[in-house]
Order: sequence, then structure tokens, then C-alpha cells
Amino acid sequence: MKRYLSWSGGKDSSASIVLCYENGIPLDGVIFSEVMFDHSRNISGENPEHIEWIYNTAIPIIERMGYSVNVVRAEKDYVGLFHTRITRSKQAERIGKKYGFPLGGMCFVNSQLKVGSIKKFQKHLDLHESVIGIAYDEPERLSRLKENSVSVLAQYKVCERDTYELCRRYNLLSPLYESKSRGGCWFCPNCSVKEFARLKKYHPELWDELEKLSHDPDIVKQGFKYARTFASVNREVDLINNQISIFEYMKEQHHVEL
Ligand code: SF4
Repeated sequence: MKRYLSWSGGKDSSASIVLCYENGIPLDGVIFSEVMFDHSRNISGENPEHIEWIYNTAIPIIERMGYSVNVVRAEKDYVGLFHTRITRSKQAERIGKKYGFPLGGMCFVNSQLKVGSIKKFQKHLDLHESVIGIAYDEPERLSRLKENSVSVLAQYKVCERDTYELCRRYNLLSPLYESKSRGGCWFCPNCSVKEFARLKKYHPELWDELEKLSHDPDIVKQGFKYARTFASVNREVDLINNQISIFEYMKEQHHVEL
């Protein structure tokens, strides 16, 4: 039976790789599913700092451990889903409109881009076992593990708090944990407004992408972050970023201890 480890680059799945390595547990490969924002321009949908670390730091380390890393991407991307037109709906006025931004709590990106590409990869495998990064102290998640899935963290009684140290040992702790920024997609409706402010400050070109999409007159709904429109979130984002600028300006100009 083949054994693949589902890896997100987060602490739990990275610590699972370390456990396999240290305990000689053979793996036929590691699978990383990358959500793409736009295939045609090679724009990833993953948190920018995280994906940079995945390719430039983490994958080379894991490969040096002797495991091959399979990066899988769905054929579709965020932009394609955004522009997909609704063909069936009980509300006739919705038909022909574009899906637009994903709905918070019912995200089509996860099912169609993230999980879909892993399932497609697994479809071509014979009998296999999936190693999933769920810690020993997460009984509820462990109870939902599917039949052909195992948690090495649970087998070795590794709790969530212990995963940081395992990752650090091999430089496999994503910079997300140092910066306290959120993992996942940079356009996620579950990002806090502060997180979006950070995105606009450090990656304005990505924020511009969302702004352009928000002006599409054919989208079925204006909600960008749950019921809030992009324009409303953008105003708050600017307030946050301008406050930070004033704070930094005062510090520089007056050398005030703030
Ligand atoms: S991080 Fe957010 S946008 Fe990305 S798949 Fe998960 S819920 Fe959807």
C-alpha cells in the first residue's frame, strides 16, 4: 500500500513529516495542493510569504530528507471561478450573472481548487493511505478521520504545542507563525480587516486585483467579506494603514517614545 502525506506547510503537517523522518516511517510522497489565483499570470492564491517559503525553503529541506513533494494544482483558478456564470437558480434574476467573490462559510475555492486537486491526484493511485496532520489533543478532528487516513502525531502522542519544536528542529516552521499572519488564501473572506490591511500595505498589486474584480458589473452579489462590500472593507483598510503611517511619521519626526 502506498502512503502519501497531505502537507499544507502548517505546523501540524510539517511536524508529521519530521516524525516520519525521525522514526523511519516510509512515505511514497508528500502532496501539497496550491490554490492558484490566476494560472495565466502564475499568481498563487496562497499567502505570499508562506508560498515563497514553501518553494524556496521547505520543499528543498523535505527533498533532502528523501521525500518527493508533489505540488498539485486544480485546472481551474480563482479568477475562472469568479467569472463563471450561474446557469441554474430558483431566482431567475441570478441566471447569467457571475459567481463573484466566494461566500464566507461556503467557500467554493476549498472544494473546487484545494480539495479537488488532491482528490484528482489520489484517483490515479492504487490502494493508498493518507497521513494527515492532526495532533494527539484534537480528539474531535481525529474522530472524523476517514478509513484510509492516519495521524502519526496521534500515534506518537504529539500535542499541538509540541509541533513547533519539531518543526524548528529542521527549519520547517513557516514564517506565518513568526509574523502571526494568517495562512490560507490571501483573498479569503475569513481574513480579518487587519489582515487585509497588511496585504494592501505589503502586496498592493494583489489588493488591486481584488479591487478591479469588485467593479465587475455582472457579479451576482457585492459581498466580499460576508455581507460587506469590497469598498466598505477597503475604506477600513485605508484607515488602519493611514493610522499606522501617522504613528510611524510621528515617531520619526519627533523621536517620541510611543
Ligand atoms: S483559505 Fe479561505 S478562501 Fe481559501 S479555501 Fe479556505 S476558506 Fe476558501
